[in-house]
Amino acid sequence: MIIDFHTHCYPDAVAAHAMAAMTGAAEACPEASGLRPEADGTLDHLRRNVHAAGADYFVQLSVVTAPRHQYNVNQFALKVNALPDAFSFCGVHGAASDSLEELERMYDAGIKGVKLHPDEQMIDLADKKMYPVYDLISDLGLPVVIHTGFDPFSPDHAHASPDQILKVRADFPKLRLILAHLGGYLDWDAAEELLAGKGMPMDTALATAGLPPEQAVRIIRKNGAENVFLGSDSPWATTAHALDYLLKLPLTDREKELIMGENAARLLGLMP
Ligand SMILES: [Zn+2]
Repeated sequence: MIIDFHTHCYPDAVAAHAMAAMTGAAEACPEASGLRPEADGTLDHLRRNVHAAGADYFVQLSVVTAPRHQYNVNQFALKVNALPDAFSFCGVHGAASDSLEELERMYDAGIKGVKLHPDEQMIDLADKKMYPVYDLISDLGLPVVIHTGFDPFSPDHAHASPDQILKVRADFPKLRLILAHLGGYLDWDAAEELLAGKGMPMDTALATAGLPPEQAVRIIRKNGAENVFLGSDSPWATTAHALDYLLKLPLTDREKELIMGENAARLLGLMP
């Protein structure tokens, strides 16, 4: 079983616009130099890439960049989630007046998780206005994937820094936080030291963009291979690229099996 646990795509009508905005932001940041999309951002291209890599399923993470987009982003999430080979996590924006109702609506529709992107939503992870959202997500029992580390949309301030992650973790022990990017895109030293092994699963998205293999192995083993999911962050890398990176790591076959699909299959209810 192979599952790409961290992907994004956009409705056809807005994919080109979204890709131009994100590519422009990345190009303006020397930190993210070398980050170039490997897909066009459409659902169709994503699915073709996922299956070309031999993967069975993918998880599409919906990012609500502004409160006014919340409903439409989640309508698209429902459309993707209805596909036989896909799951889509919903998005929620902490500044939307109806964020709690929207979470209930997504839960009732069968959505299996939530995505938060503090840097693109411009709200600190530990901002108190997020607390009612965390309370509800904890009660619903849904996992919540959060962006970690550097982001070109907020190059000077990390809205999900390790200290904020640890504060939210301490304040919401029932909240099932999943740390994207092995705990911190381009901030992997802090992730390794402060976040790995603290009981929060991680995905491997964007490890392809500069994480040395030896450090990837150290972070994965400190966190436990049973707590790591394969992720590409498509359109920024293809599933094949992410899988190739994982398979080349000096891990055991069993560790790779867990990471490339078994852990995600359990979380998604595809396996006992
Ligand atoms: Zn992502």
